[in-house]
Amino acid sequence: TQLDSAGAGTWTAGPLVPGAAAGGDVQTVTNPADRREVVGHWRAADEAIVAQALKNAVDAQPAWDATPVDARASILEKAAELMEARMPQLMAMCTKEAGKSLSDGVAEVREAVDFLRYYALQAREQFVVEALPGPTGESNTLQLSGRGVFVCISPWNFPLAIFTGQVAAALAAGNSVIAKPAEQTNLIGYAAVQILHEAGVPAAVLQYLPGDGATVGAALTRDPRVAGVAFTGSTDTARLINRALATRDAGPLAVLIAETGGQNALIADSSSLPEQVVKDALASAFTSAGQRCSAARILLVQDDIGDKVITMLAGAMAELKVGDPGLLSTDVGPVIDADAKALLDAHAAKMQQIAKPIARATLEPGTEHGTFFAPVAWELQSIDQLTRENFGPALHVVRWKAADLDKVIDAINASGYGLTLGIHSRIDGTIDRIVNRAKVGNIYVNRNQIGAVVGVQPFGGQGLSGTGPKAGGPHYLPRFATEKTVT
Ligand code: ADP
Repeated sequence: TQLDSAGAGTWTAGPLVPGAAAGGDVQTVTNPADRREVVGHWRAADEAIVAQALKNAVDAQPAWDATPVDARASILEKAAELMEARMPQLMAMCTKEAGKSLSDGVAEVREAVDFLRYYALQAREQFVVEALPGPTGESNTLQLSGRGVFVCISPWNFPLAIFTGQVAAALAAGNSVIAKPAEQTNLIGYAAVQILHEAGVPAAVLQYLPGDGATVGAALTRDPRVAGVAFTGSTDTARLINRALATRDAGPLAVLIAETGGQNALIADSSSLPEQVVKDALASAFTSAGQRCSAARILLVQDDIGDKVITMLAGAMAELKVGDPGLLSTDVGPVIDADAKALLDAHAAKMQQIAKPIARATLEPGTEHGTFFAPVAWELQSIDQLTRENFGPALHVVRWKAADLDKVIDAINASGYGLTLGIHSRIDGTIDRIVNRAKVGNIYVNRNQIGAVVGVQPFGGQGLSGTGPKAGGPHYLPRFATEKTVT
């Protein structure tokens, strides 16, 4: 990879595994905005490379675990500096490989940098020998160390931030790491690993294994040498990984740290300001082309402001610029690939049968070859009409009556997902009532649902949305570690 070049076609990614071959056939990456521009190339890992990576990881872990935490943390901080310095290149990769808007690209790099610094800081604080009470006069201490080999499996929607966050935490805790990026974003993951190597992480301590989830991902998670998996992706895949880990009849009882999907709602009551509801619903539903786990899919609006909100929403959607994510004027870029678009098209066809259309944004000229899905909003009679997470710019509006507030919250809870919830209200009692009843991980009051600030707003859900602990929070790092007491 020519990391210092933002030029198209010059990036090449492949397995980074000492002692292994270069990988399978060269595959081409194209820009999702036109499916023509060649952005780079990549090669997948095969079975022999996976085997070599696992062996390297086992051999390299003890020395890394024995490296003073201060040294490990300094390496992560160095990587943060390098990433910051290369923001323009990394942003360009986010736009060209993942179709991210420029503002998303900035946020992506910032979040990755924040993860590196935060976990470095947390490691320094948490990986110390802590004195516990010694009531009998004996010395009594608690300390953390790495679990062993950690596998990090990441998604394409935050190809730099989530990838870097998982890897940084696992490394900070003293694990050796095998990182498998999503098939759609191999170049970005590769660039992140290169930066970490340049900062001083030994090559065998952090290895990179691009490839198919069903082959490379599955081979890693069923291997008895793996002590833990950090995963972000779909709930179905989290279950597959859980099963793979559970059916191993040798090796450590591995942990799974999973962050998965959501069926997120925004509840607005009649005391809320329609202008603000619409502005925040738009941001929550359509930022990053709706391809955020946290994105609002359902706008629940109290009936007496329903007409006003729906009219204003339609007006605002007509203003959205949907097109080239490399332009500053663009609000919404393409969805990640043809499969994602096909799923959304199928959903739209279904909604056409059962929902009332509210508005559909128009596509800018020049979008015809890309995988664009125009942002759309429908009105539904009930939340139950939505059966699955629709990962894209699609919003569903449902009206509710004051007497039914608890029922509305229960219906949200009934999905089994529990990731984000927006509340718009100016009545404290209503806000408290919703906060207390809702089974979700992140709640946003009178603002949009975009917000997972490392160290400030740790992110993660419950139920079908993930195992916790929250990424970017104080409880995340210890989950990658084992505890030892000495009495
Ligand atoms: P999405 O719907 O976001 O594409 P996936 O859960 O399919 O979510 O993918 C998230 C990550 O999980 C990707 O890196 C993918 O390659 C990986 N993955 C998919 N299937 C498996 C599997 N069976 N075992 C391990 N990893 C997998």
